[in-house]
Amino acid sequence: MTPLSTLSPTVTLVGAGPGDPELLTLKAVKAIQQATVLLVDDLVNVAVLEHASPSARIVHVGKRGGCKSTPQAFIEKLMVMAALEGENVVRLKGGDPFIFGRGGEEVESLQAAGIQVKVVNGITAGLAAVTSLNVPLTHRDHAHGVVFVTGHAKPGDDGTDWPALAASAHQAKLTLVIYMGVSGVEQIADGLLAGLPAHTPVAIVQHASLPQQREAFCTLAELARTVREQGMGSPAVMVVGDVTAGVAQLSRHATDTPPAEDRATRFAA
Ligand code: SAH
Repeated sequence: MTPLSTLSPTVTLVGAGPGDPELLTLKAVKAIQQATVLLVDDLVNVAVLEHASPSARIVHVGKRGGCKSTPQAFIEKLMVMAALEGENVVRLKGGDPFIFGRGGEEVESLQAAGIQVKVVNGITAGLAAVTSLNVPLTHRDHAHGVVFVTGHAKPGDDGTDWPALAASAHQAKLTLVIYMGVSGVEQIADGLLAGLPAHTPVAIVQHASLPQQREAFCTLAELARTVREQGMGSPAVMVVGDVTAGVAQLSRHATDTPPAEDRATRFAA
């Protein structure tokens, strides 16, 4: 007799990584190959869909590319219905399913509907962004820890207390990786300046791990101006802390922008 677990309706949340399709895990590839229905988020690089079966149903639920974002409740309903129909449902999410992107909410609502949930990790954008610069998120001399923090709170939520976070980061030597922050950069930078020195180095990385990746380096005092002047738009992460000091200094001395690989090599030297 088939074990009960294989008969249970299941949805797998799969982290598609930051963009570069080669950063998918083997587990993610396997899940994509076996899916009969794939619900694909905004920031997922469609190149990862080459692993999908030609007969799989692919539903894009993102708001980029001119389409309106599919409401979250509808996506959750769609997953429940497909799972109950016996489909092998994969929900492809950018980066890691459990770093922002509402993965936790999806697990709760699927479980409430009696659906079994599996989660496959992906490489989160903030990690890929700094790694592309050969910058570590932690370092025994510069950062004892790292905080992944959102710059965009849920409507009605006060959001992050930036001065308090900055004071803790300063005192405890923490690297701050700010997601969804470029559109509200003025307010974030002002708040952080209440607790961190104005000369704290910052790296801004847009489209991390993709061929169109761009970076900008500055101090916290220059952050808002740099984001606006360099036209750094979403998707981008801002990495605040001494771990980025090397790259920031190099960029100051550069006469023009060298390729990321060159800059990373010089930083490492
Ligand atoms: N779950 C995702 C994050 C989703 S929130 C993860 O783990 O990466 C969406 C935010 O992630 C974007 O606004 C941006 O801040 C960041 N992001 C996603 N992909 C990115 C990329 N390729 N480069 C830089 N930032 C990215």
